[in-house]
Amino acid sequence: MMDSKTSEIYKQVVLDHNKTPRNYRILDPAMYEAAGHNPLCGDRYHVYLNVDDSGIITDITFSGDGCAISKASASMMTSMLKGKTVTEAEKMFHQFHEMAQGKRDPETDPGDLGRLKVFAGVRNLPARVKCATLSWHTFHAALKGEKKVTTE
Ligand code: ZN
Repeated sequence: MMDSKTSEIYKQVVLDHNKTPRNYRILDPAMYEAAGHNPLCGDRYHVYLNVDDSGIITDITFSGDGCAISKASASMMTSMLKGKTVTEAEKMFHQFHEMAQGKRDPETDPGDLGRLKVFAGVRNLPARVKCATLSWHTFHAALKGEKKVTTE
């Protein structure tokens, strides 16, 4: 369970990123692009990114719409991944996924999660896990060259 301070931070972060989403625009041209859909909630996003010769994500953006959690998560993901290498970004995807599924406790094993820890609370809200992870799955699909991803 989240303590009240964590849940208050979580609420503020989600509200802030939902109201003022970062990197919320279509990237054109984009080397990688995929569409993500979460039918359980109705969240739909596109994630776009460009990677330079040394494997650094030079730009990453998103477009689309959905609930506050999905949009805040996409916004925070793009601001965290910009400037990271693809390898670092993929590692963060796995760590975020583990945290959202309750398989990683960010308090004892934060890895590279940093500010993403505020989303740890979704593990207690099963219906919200897919909202929080949708943009990450979409990012991962884009890198793999898959055009579409749907949460199951
Ligand atoms: Zn949602």
